[in-house]
Amino acid sequence: MRIIGRFAPSPTGPLHFGSLVAALASWLDARRGGGRWLLRIEDLDRPRVMPGAEDAILRQLDELGLGWDGPILHQSERLAVYERSLQGIQAHTYACACTRRELEDSALAIDGSRIYPGTCRGGLDPGKTARALRVRTTNEQIRFADRVQGEIVQRVETEVGDFVLRRADGVIAYQLAVIVDDAAQGVTDVVRGADLLDSTARQIHLQRLLGLATPRYLHVPVATGAGGEKLSKQTGAGAAGPAELRSALRFLGHEVPADLSPREALDWALEYWDPRRIPRRRAAPAIS
Ligand code: GLU
Repeated sequence: MRIIGRFAPSPTGPLHFGSLVAALASWLDARRGGGRWLLRIEDLDRPRVMPGAEDAILRQLDELGLGWDGPILHQSERLAVYERSLQGIQAHTYACACTRRELEDSALAIDGSRIYPGTCRGGLDPGKTARALRVRTTNEQIRFADRVQGEIVQRVETEVGDFVLRRADGVIAYQLAVIVDDAAQGVTDVVRGADLLDSTARQIHLQRLLGLATPRYLHVPVATGAGGEKLSKQTGAGAAGPAELRSALRFLGHEVPADLSPREALDWALEYWDPRRIPRRRAAPAIS
């Protein structure tokens, strides 16, 4: 089977060390197998989009030598496609009238994550206004074998609850858009940061409802800063470039010979890439 990988950044800022790690792992995984590597810009959440970030990301990928195939897909141009998918699973979705405040008061908090208790599942009380659209979940165990993290099992109903597919402000949720697009682009292998490991069962639930194939998943450790926090623009993580390539490879468990230039390091990695060397951890300190 021909591998089709993808990188799907949100244009909220330039690539930092953590997003470079995800891009690099996905690129190596696809290219090593002689496959295609696609680029998708996840720009649905307009208020979070940073002007100029997409250009910066494209320039960085180019400088890093991580070339992509075919046209770039923009999620903001695919709203009609997501609405059609929602119509297709109408029987499994319902309108939710809960305000943020009501959600905070009613949600069961387990391990710091909030679980929606299904307040609006049975229909809306008269006088209530529909806000978000949620999908009904079930207690079936969803299992998948992550290529790095091993077997993951989640019961979405008890561990997450019915989750949002369209927000109150009309924005299509990441969980829906990502699986619709991975399927439309024929993606066989999703390689991304382990911060999304907990989202994967939700995505598999949606794939099943929509009759879409489940790709293989590989979640690389998330890079953390000095205080153990996930690197992000908010934590002041700087833009990553070719000078960070060898550290990113080391982070992924690949010890690059010391005397190689960034371009040579990438060629070396293409030859020696082995996902079994990636540390089986959800997070690890960034390497500088
Ligand atoms: N757009 C997401 C992010 O930048 C990644 C989505 C994915 O790889 O599934 O965090």
